[in-house]
Amino acid sequence: MAGARTGVTRRGFLGGALGTAIALGAGPTRPAAAQSRNSPGAIPWYRRAYRWGQTNITEKDPARYDIGWWREYWKRTETQAVIINAGGIVAYYPSKFPLHHRAEFLGGRDLFGELTKAAHDDGLFVMARMDSNRAAEDFFKTQPDWFAHDRDGKPYRAADKYVACINSPYYDEYLPGVLREIAGRSRPDGFTDNSWAGLGRDSICYCAHCERKFTAKSGKALPRQADWNDPAYRDWIMWSYARRIEVWELNNRTTRDAGGPDCIWAGMNSGSVTSQARSFRDLKEICRRADIMMLDHQRRDDDTGFQQNGDTGKRVHGLLGWDKVAPESMAMYQSGPGYYRVASKPAAEARMWMIAGIAGGIQPWWHHVGAYHEDRRMYRTAEPVMRWFKTNEQYLVNRHPVASVGLVWSQRNTDFFGRDEAPDRVDAPYTGFMHALVRARIPYLPVHADDIDETAGLTLLILPNLGALSDAQAASIRRFVQKGGSLIATGETGLYNEWGDPRPDFVLADLFACHRLGDPPRLRGAGSREGAGGGRGAFAPSPSGHTYLRLAPELRARVDGPKAGDEPPATGERHAVLHGFDETDILPFGGTLSSLQVDATATVPLTFVPAFPTYPPETSWMREPKSNIPGLILSERGRARVAYMPADIDRRYAREHLPDHASLLANIIRWASGQSIPLHVEGPGLVDCHLYEQPGRLILHMVNLTSEATWRAPVHELIRVGPFTVRIRRPQRVAARTARLLVSAAERPVTFQDGMGTIEIDSILDHELIVVE
Ligand SMILES: [Zn+2]
Repeated sequence: MAGARTGVTRRGFLGGALGTAIALGAGPTRPAAAQSRNSPGAIPWYRRAYRWGQTNITEKDPARYDIGWWREYWKRTETQAVIINAGGIVAYYPSKFPLHHRAEFLGGRDLFGELTKAAHDDGLFVMARMDSNRAAEDFFKTQPDWFAHDRDGKPYRAADKYVACINSPYYDEYLPGVLREIAGRSRPDGFTDNSWAGLGRDSICYCAHCERKFTAKSGKALPRQADWNDPAYRDWIMWSYARRIEVWELNNRTTRDAGGPDCIWAGMNSGSVTSQARSFRDLKEICRRADIMMLDHQRRDDDTGFQQNGDTGKRVHGLLGWDKVAPESMAMYQSGPGYYRVASKPAAEARMWMIAGIAGGIQPWWHHVGAYHEDRRMYRTAEPVMRWFKTNEQYLVNRHPVASVGLVWSQRNTDFFGRDEAPDRVDAPYTGFMHALVRARIPYLPVHADDIDETAGLTLLILPNLGALSDAQAASIRRFVQKGGSLIATGETGLYNEWGDPRPDFVLADLFACHRLGDPPRLRGAGSREGAGGGRGAFAPSPSGHTYLRLAPELRARVDGPKAGDEPPATGERHAVLHGFDETDILPFGGTLSSLQVDATATVPLTFVPAFPTYPPETSWMREPKSNIPGLILSERGRARVAYMPADIDRRYAREHLPDHASLLANIIRWASGQSIPLHVEGPGLVDCHLYEQPGRLILHMVNLTSEATWRAPVHELIRVGPFTVRIRRPQRVAARTARLLVSAAERPVTFQDGMGTIEIDSILDHELIVVE
């Protein structure tokens, strides 16, 4: 585990011949589009397009699209690739398919063709934009069996449109025909589609195609309703995932066949694993196949913050490889709170979302809805970010992250442990750790639970309430610890198998140094709670009690306050995980815990204080001030340190944002990490730090999240923070005496001591990119 600290998967290594890749980045800014199609052996266009733009037009726009003005805008924003509306729900060219609905104001015009030619003439690449999962009533009446039906035979509808069934000839015959037509007419460089995955998980289709295909595959009838404990429903989930992969591959064969080997098809994906799960888009399997990842992930919410976009970039590249490109649609309109398609998003808010994504390896892609706006302020938002990106491009792509901490996730866990409560069971614990790591400026990487064996350089894995673990995943975690890697796990980690069926004990109970007592738990099958969107913010509410955690009294350092009864003050050093809590014997908790059988060799620095009344205040005293129920269990095996925390402090922190919870999580991470964390940043404010390396070069991207509206979108004003002292572990190859600051355009000396390089940074407004080489 010692040595290099670059958390890079084998995929990243194989795909990432770094020297070559960096040479690519220095290639021509606007290579002729024709080169991509006609030069065998050239670097394909989709690995050279770093700056993207999309004018996502309405049916009215053919009458008012000022192509000359937008060409100037492409130039001003240094755009290399554009996404142009072609067909699907609405056609922006005269399609030969009579039911392919033409835009109301299109007339006989070929707007898609005109725009594609203009972009190609300007040296830009073009992705034809499809939106393909629904159609108007005339289409439905002509081909009713191509559309999804509910259990009562009624068609699924979305507003006035009808939703096509992904198992019908609409996807197997009609759409490929449309793709071939568009590729043949206008020669776009590729295709993308933002609703390619069909009906989501909440709607089971009972059309004849689904019935026939599902029974042929599974030998079962379609499930009557959503029930995670029903084998037919489980088969339906897996079968539905497999169909999306089939569609991905079919569409790619179709467009390459019609448009040449580089004419790729790339359906859009979400930055939220829960959203991916709800629409059967398997992020890992898609990344295995994708040439480029088109992310439709346009804004933050208050609970996950800008930092979630940095997390998304690292998660996607962890699967895709760091040599591929992952542009993300970034709304220039106000997309929440409130939804105002033609009003400008506050510039500071839009800018920070872009920067946070770029810091995580995402490429910028401005997105306007409509080709004409009366709020013209939005046209100024993207330009400075796009220009800065171009100037510093070589440091922003083809780089490898440096981190010692892996935050483990799997979509399978989101599905079969999260079920209908994934925001609460899965997203909140993950997000709690993400926030705590960002707050502590500890670089980390999202790691897929299937990729643990292939991940090099990490010294600590965190399993945030990772309930569903397969035997194989558990075995790879065990191998990680056997090799000296440390582990933090919380809540119900490993208490279920990959189907969400309970295990009699934690599958990693030996590592956790404790065993479960009592009957195995059982996850609810269905329908217990609304998922994402239910309750406040991103996480569904879950019951809270008036409970606390007690800091182990035998480790209490001192008591400086009124004495309660005849309790003798304990003396002695407190455990490192309780650092900073000298003045308290309790921490707020809010959850509930039950007894565990703890190994004699383990340390229990936190125990549970059961609930007592909050109101009226006269009743608010602890009925049971002490218990033997553990809140945190620490153990060591060789070099490996293991923390198992039954208390869901990670989920609590995501929900309640108490600084004690963040400090406790950071303390545990630091204890488990030993000396392996490669970055230390001191200074005021909330700053998200991303560390990367390129040959002979270290790159630190610091994003200032300390705005006047950190707690709530949108940002009104940016606030400068600093000064900072940055210490970075020096790899062998980097021997610079000077660091360049590529936002403030300054240089700072680097002083080396004990293998760490120290740099002083005066202040950061929105972000700073520090290059040491
Ligand atoms: Zn169907």
